[in-house]
Amino acid sequence: MTTSSTQSTSSDQTILVINCGSSSLKFAVINSQSGEQYISGLAERLESDDAQISIKTAEQKDIISIKNGGHSEALDEILARLDQHQLLDNISAVGHRVVHGGEKFTSSTLITDEVIQGIKDCNALAPLHNPANLIGIEVSQQKLDNVPHIAVFDTAFHQSMPAHAYLYPVPYDLYTQYGVRRYGFHGTSHRYVTQALADQLNTSPDELCVLTAHLGNGCSAAAIANGQSVDTTMGLTPLEGLMMGTRSGDVDPSLHHFLCQQMNITIDEVNNILNKKSGLLGLSGLSNDMRTLMEARDQDNKQAELAIEVFCYRLAKQLAGLATALPRLDGLIFTGGIGENAAEIRSKVLSKLKLLGFEEDSQANANARTVAKGLITTATSTPAYVVATDEEWMIAKDTAELTN
Ligand code: ADP
Repeated sequence: MTTSSTQSTSSDQTILVINCGSSSLKFAVINSQSGEQYISGLAERLESDDAQISIKTAEQKDIISIKNGGHSEALDEILARLDQHQLLDNISAVGHRVVHGGEKFTSSTLITDEVIQGIKDCNALAPLHNPANLIGIEVSQQKLDNVPHIAVFDTAFHQSMPAHAYLYPVPYDLYTQYGVRRYGFHGTSHRYVTQALADQLNTSPDELCVLTAHLGNGCSAAAIANGQSVDTTMGLTPLEGLMMGTRSGDVDPSLHHFLCQQMNITIDEVNNILNKKSGLLGLSGLSNDMRTLMEARDQDNKQAELAIEVFCYRLAKQLAGLATALPRLDGLIFTGGIGENAAEIRSKVLSKLKLLGFEEDSQANANARTVAKGLITTATSTPAYVVATDEEWMIAKDTAELTN
């Protein structure tokens, strides 16, 4: 790696992107213009005996043990590696993924003391994520105190939803006093793929009315009208909406009460079942991983088959519902690990959406990665596309734009 390849210009910056979990820290150093990742990695199992960092460059992959190391030790080690690769001095800003920005943050923002307080104020809405994001911010601000830090929120893109889409039909006081409303997540991904499709079609996102389906371990879909999110499937928390790897998505809200009574368990235990033991894992009894389930189904595993069928049916049903929010439908974008790689899932979903005018081009769908614009439908169909997401690049772009 040469230093010259990573020198920043005003529009072409080298950005460190940090995504902090409670016991993990994902990072990447990215060229904000091209999206090239010079180095990336994951510190995991932090504060434990087997805390380690895996670091990847174009040339090599290293695993470094940092026994009992926490976020601070991990970041020390990561910064030392960036220095070895002559990247550290070129970093012009740090972009942080923050899960919940509540109603306060409608776009990415420079991190100040007031912003940190604003993120803390949203802790109750994302108790597992926001405190971890704050650790990442605090530790990296200490280590990199000479560059600006930017927060990029998962929720911000969906703040354009109208009240009829974000309100739950519960007493209005619950909204005004406790912030009970739908926020939506995966905003960085929904925004990125809409922008990427607009670029491919030589148009602006403002000209596009699309449905986006982000299908990874977590899954959500969004309705995007003229570049603005107008509805999405996730709600107050990332549990609402589509069936996911381990999350149930929509269930009857009385299920909590029913299970507490029938199983004599606490509300926390029900929450754990719905978040960690449901979805593809729960229905199949086998795995949360779509690839594993498709292989098992091919070996005649009936429960795996059932889980896949429920996943596709629920996804198609929710996409059809979301179409209600759009003035017209210019297309459907599939993204995320399942959306980008599982042709069969896309095929099943499109076949259930004939009413919306979708007709799969099976050859194009099978070769989605190589076909023009990722178009996987016939010439007379409502278009459907496969667009690879890149949340890190979106964070780097926002960070560069705000610090230019
Ligand atoms: P995360 O939400 O953790 O970023 P990903 O976007 O990587 O997750 O998506 C993970 C999901 O993508 C898993 O269910 C995995 O099985 C699925 N997946 C990845 N590749 C394929 C493939 N070739 N066929 C089917 N599913 C795939």
